[in-house]
Amino acid sequence: MPDVAVTVIGGGVVGLAIAAELSKDYSPLFLLERRPKYGAETSSRNSEVIHAGLYYPHGSLKAQLCIEGKHLLYELCERHDIPYKRITKIITATQPDELPQLEKLYRHGIGNGVELEMMTADQVHALEPHIASFGGMLSPTTGIISAHGLMDYFYHAAKNNGAEIQMHCTVVGLTKTSDGFEVSIDEGGQRSSFTSEIVVNAAGLESDMIASLAGIDVDAAGYRLHHCKGDYFAVTNAKSKLITRLVYPIPPKESLGVHALVDLTGRLKFGPDVEYMTERSYNYAVDESKRREFAESIRRILPAITDDDISPEMSGIRAKLQRKGEPVRDFVIKHETERGLAGLVNLIGIESPGLTSSPAIALYVQRLLRND
Ligand SMILES: Cc1cc2nc3c(=O)[nH]c(=O)nc-3n(C[C@H](O)[C@H](O)[C@H](O)COP(=O)(O)OP(=O)(O)OC[C@H]3O[C@@H](n4cnc5c(N)ncnc54)[C@H](O)[C@@H]3O)c2cc1C
Repeated sequence: MPDVAVTVIGGGVVGLAIAAELSKDYSPLFLLERRPKYGAETSSRNSEVIHAGLYYPHGSLKAQLCIEGKHLLYELCERHDIPYKRITKIITATQPDELPQLEKLYRHGIGNGVELEMMTADQVHALEPHIASFGGMLSPTTGIISAHGLMDYFYHAAKNNGAEIQMHCTVVGLTKTSDGFEVSIDEGGQRSSFTSEIVVNAAGLESDMIASLAGIDVDAAGYRLHHCKGDYFAVTNAKSKLITRLVYPIPPKESLGVHALVDLTGRLKFGPDVEYMTERSYNYAVDESKRREFAESIRRILPAITDDDISPEMSGIRAKLQRKGEPVRDFVIKHETERGLAGLVNLIGIESPGLTSSPAIALYVQRLLRND
């Protein structure tokens, strides 16, 4: 009999949400995180937006889990005092020739079941007088959330259910056994191993590497991740009140576009840009030389911003399944029974809207394990 029932690899928002959910049914449950603190990677380096779910392809996991996750998040926030705000969002057509794309996005979002309102330029300016707009769309269900507040909630929920959460613990091996997996770990240079009936791979930027430890050919499976950095710049306090809600442009191909973010403290930031990394490094420094380019993108939305009004703020790294220029891929959330790896659930390519989707992803994983 294996030593533990479930091992969750990765203490980001997704691993923590899964640990909080599965620890209701499975014991012992371990969550292993290589960093000194949970949520130290992508889950604390993002826009903290509760997305409405309007962009993603109809029927995709991204659309389904984002919309379900949004409703679950608002309920969790209200019930457990997790800091959040129903701030709403405007998508603005900053040029007249963007209006057909806005209309298309509106129809797409409505098709996903998202509440949206088309607005004239006057209606947009009544809400946000300083932004460039030839017409816009209001997303009333978009909000912001404290990612740390949410992770603290999942962490304590998992602990209260009896989960054991181990920091400073890197998974270095995963071998199939007759009734589960042998999990090899490194804790500060000390190696050891134990057995687990179920393993959930929620290792974010390294989830493809964990899949390969289990013997999966990640290139053949289409699991290879491409790290893609996004930088943010903050606006000086003097101009931070020029926008009062989230303001997004019409999305370019590879992202939602550099957009205006108002955080829970009222600070105004713009980001993230898109920079595919040539090698895997966890260098989160923001490149100051991007200031002019950033200011130009920002001025398309908020013309009053000068190059001197912004300063480098923070960055995050996206776990993308698609290479630069390739069509956007859906989340991979898969019980690997068909590969002869019953008991292994892989979560790969959990880029945005992963934070919004996290409670719905946890329920999805629970259903996968129950049904298979
Ligand atoms: C710039 C940016 C902006 C974003 N904005 C939003 C947004 O506004 N709204 C939204 O919904 N989503 C957003 N996202 C997406 C969201 O942040 C992610 O989908 C989510 O944080 C992914 O969580 P995760 O738990 O899968 O990954 P992570 O947070 O990366 O957690 C994975 C964990 O696994 C650990 N780990 C890795 N390898 C090992 C190992 N071998 N052993 C043990 N532990 C290991 C890591 O240390 C890490 O803590 C954004 C992402 C980025 C990059």
